Amino acid sequence: MRMYDLIYRKKLGGALTPEEIAFWVEGAATGAVPDEQSAALLMAICWRGVSTEETLALTLAMRDSGKRVDLSSVPGVKVDKHSTGGVGDKTTLILGPIVAACGVPCAMFSGRGLGHTGGTVDKYAAIPGMRVELSEAEFLRSLRETGFANSAQTGDVCPADRKLYALRDITATVESIPLITASIMSKKLAGGADALVLDVKCGEGAFMKTLEDATALARSMVEVGKAHGMRIKALITRMEEPLGWAIGNALEVMESAEILKGQHGQGDLAQMSFRLAAEMLVLGGAAADLAGAEAKVGEAVASGRAMEVFRRFAVLNGGDAAALDDFSRLPGARGSIAVTAKASGWVESIDSRALGVYAAGLGAGRQTRDDVLDLGVGLRMHVTVGDRVEAGQPLVTVLHGEKPAEPLPEGWIRLSEAPCAKPGWCLGVVE
Ligand code: URA
Repeated sequence: MRMYDLIYRKKLGGALTPEEIAFWVEGAATGAVPDEQSAALLMAICWRGVSTEETLALTLAMRDSGKRVDLSSVPGVKVDKHSTGGVGDKTTLILGPIVAACGVPCAMFSGRGLGHTGGTVDKYAAIPGMRVELSEAEFLRSLRETGFANSAQTGDVCPADRKLYALRDITATVESIPLITASIMSKKLAGGADALVLDVKCGEGAFMKTLEDATALARSMVEVGKAHGMRIKALITRMEEPLGWAIGNALEVMESAEILKGQHGQGDLAQMSFRLAAEMLVLGGAAADLAGAEAKVGEAVASGRAMEVFRRFAVLNGGDAAALDDFSRLPGARGSIAVTAKASGWVESIDSRALGVYAAGLGAGRQTRDDVLDLGVGLRMHVTVGDRVEAGQPLVTVLHGEKPAEPLPEGWIRLSEAPCAKPGWCLGVVE
């Protein structure tokens, strides 16, 4: 088999066999296939597309390029959730303890933030002492003892994805539905869960800008999951403004703890987290339908049991659980600047991508994989789309580190003279 022939055929729109795809993926992971040839094939895939069979073969080859996590020693249906990435998205920290408190083992591997979106692992790192890179034995212990395990994926899982994702990142080939599907689903299948709820973000702050593309991505991932015997469902959710009031790692831990203690229950973040948790309970077999599952979620939060799981999960993994109640123990900022409204009006839009990039520039996120984060910096939002604001009213507080904060990007918020309706957060369901 020659990589040249595979690239040439895909360039003309032809199909690759599962054996050819496995040959490429294995070679990319081991270094036997040079990066130039992988990059050329990735670009040909972006232009020419691939069939469902090719997407399945690519997913499997990537899953099998490394180690697979075996969760079978933990009884029950193990559930997982994946979000395609947004600004202020801390739903994992909220729904994991809720699902565990309802008796369904919740096993999740998460990523670090890159670019304008945050990463769950970085948020945990804001809890003093918390270990975020668990060995498989530690992961299983957390799952057994608290019902909840969440860690950075270890280096030996899906090495082919790491190599190909790094190449996609520098060759403008990230935004391809089959490549995103194979990248995400290979890691989810290798992670060992039996059931998966997908949160596919749609809008200016997301990879998928249109409902059509988000739906196509959701369908593609659901199809691959089902073909591998997973229980799977996708929600398509709006990413047109930051999710919740916090952007930045310590701030997002605070907001998650607040929601687990029953605060901000009517906001989009709480509603979305509760719904995703309920979907996980249905897939996990703990409730017959969504209404029953939502009742269980409500009880787990109101009784304090979900928050207690969060505290136990933190302690078991080295974290200072007292910081989840006394926020002064979390990393703080050096200074703060309140940004106020220049005029009165109704909030029409908030540019989540621009704010995500800005928060990363403060030190809350990375420009490159090696950047060191400032866990205490970020943005505290005071308004949401649809709110009425008066001139002089605070819109956002910038919490900065040593470096003085730059002004917020021009046009990050748009005010309208007429009232604006706040659109719903759920745009669709794919199952
Ligand atoms: N997240 C991933 O893990 N892979 C992609 O390709 C895109 C988002």
